[in-house]
Amino acid sequence: MLFKASINKDMDNRYVDTRGNEASPVPFTQAVINGLADGGGLYVPETVPALGLLDICKLAEYPYRDRAAYVYRAFGIDLPEDAIDECMTRSYGDNFDNEEVCPITTLPDGTHMLELWHGPTSAFKDMALQCLPNFFAASAAKLRDEGKLDHGFCILVATSGDTGKAALEGFKGTDGVKVGVLFPDGGVSDIQRKQMVTTTGDNVCVWAVTGNFDDCQTAVKRVFADDAFAKLIMEQDGMALSSANSINWGRLMPQIVYYVSSYAELVKQNKIAAGDEIDVCVPTGNFGNILAAWYAKQMGTPIGTLFCASNENRVLADFIESGTYDISDRQFVLTPSPSMDILVSSNLERQLFELTGRNAGAIRDWMASLARERKFSVDDATAAKMASVFKGCSIDSAECLATIKDVLDEYDYLMDPHTAVAYAAAKKLRGKNPVLVASTAHWAKFGDNVYRAINGIAPGEPLPEQVAALTGCQLNQLIAEETNKHDIPAGLASLDEMEPRFDQVIPNDAESVEKAVQAFLK
Ligand SMILES: *Cc1c(COP(=O)(O)O)cnc(C)c1O
Repeated sequence: MLFKASINKDMDNRYVDTRGNEASPVPFTQAVINGLADGGGLYVPETVPALGLLDICKLAEYPYRDRAAYVYRAFGIDLPEDAIDECMTRSYGDNFDNEEVCPITTLPDGTHMLELWHGPTSAFKDMALQCLPNFFAASAAKLRDEGKLDHGFCILVATSGDTGKAALEGFKGTDGVKVGVLFPDGGVSDIQRKQMVTTTGDNVCVWAVTGNFDDCQTAVKRVFADDAFAKLIMEQDGMALSSANSINWGRLMPQIVYYVSSYAELVKQNKIAAGDEIDVCVPTGNFGNILAAWYAKQMGTPIGTLFCASNENRVLADFIESGTYDISDRQFVLTPSPSMDILVSSNLERQLFELTGRNAGAIRDWMASLARERKFSVDDATAAKMASVFKGCSIDSAECLATIKDVLDEYDYLMDPHTAVAYAAAKKLRGKNPVLVASTAHWAKFGDNVYRAINGIAPGEPLPEQVAALTGCQLNQLIAEETNKHDIPAGLASLDEMEPRFDQVIPNDAESVEKAVQAFLK
């Protein structure tokens, strides 16, 4: 039986935008369908619901899907209760390989590892992207019923690896939606490419694009900016272009759930007492996951400090220290944790909106400055607030790989490079509070760098010839034997046997991408 929220369910929450450009707030369903607000701002809920400590702890008595439904109801979303329940049952069922969905492993040093990679693509993006498509479909259906929507959607995703596969798995089979994913040709791992090109489903398509990730993303951005193309596919195919990136509130909200839920779980397992403060450490790229932890804190979860772990692309760690976000003279570095190789952290905009007491004027100025001069500085009060809640730390690539090896040797626990960055940062930043580390990918997604780590090969150094010749699956098998870790997820272990469905390579100009999209929509 479902646990009913003790909150005011009659009140639908509404969503305002961070740049104050929209005339009036919109309901949840509209925010999900719009993704980005008019004028480029991001949606945030008008009110952040408060949960009592007892309510939070009581969540531990229920399965994850009910905990999620509870948190969503607290946000007052404009969908009927049974629609929310149905979304949750579909989002967090046996598509995860662990009944708890995101179990916590506590290491002998007391660090609580929140394993967010038990979903179908073995990275934490599943926590949100198994859920967003269900909300998207339910929201579109509602708006259609209300006569506010009369077309379908073509979702285009440029990916450096993890997001593409998670979006394909999430949206495949979703009514009224087609999803196309573009990745840099030769720029993703063998495992990541095979994950994408073997995706089943009638409404999906995958292309390799010449050049690097930047070229791929630029081409897709140009397609989004081409109004004539948007008009054409609306007329020909009845579809609007949309994206599935982490600026959509429907992707952020599912991430709040696991921080609230983990707190309840730690109390239930007697690892902390109800009311004890924990610190949370998150390997950060786009600032989505760590922002979700901030919202969980804001809602009343006893979270103390948020540790923002960066790799060598340390713009966020520097911002937390200085109050200046500066990418005007910053080299983009390729690291063993590619999903954090990001210079513009889109979700920081939401955080600043919240920390300034929702000052849309300030956000507009800072974002304009970022676009114009590639940097901005916040005022002293905002910088002080940021530094009082967050601590930043940057871990270099050598330390990342050394951490994987140390933790394996000492605790017999094998981490992926993203998680290792967070673990290493937590070790440096921790104080009195117990620390919850967000573990964001299964090690077998990043086998080449895990192999380097356990064999003492420096980051960026080539693998030995016989090892380099292996497929991603074979390499993982080798690592499993060397480390005695035989927990490779089924979806990754079987990739060599799966039939690739997509092998098209397209040039990285907008016109070529548009042609490919048109052919797909036919
Ligand atoms: C996307 C991703 C991250 C970064 O998450 P953000 O929400 O963008 O900060 C970290 N680790 C892995 C494995 C990821 O796929």
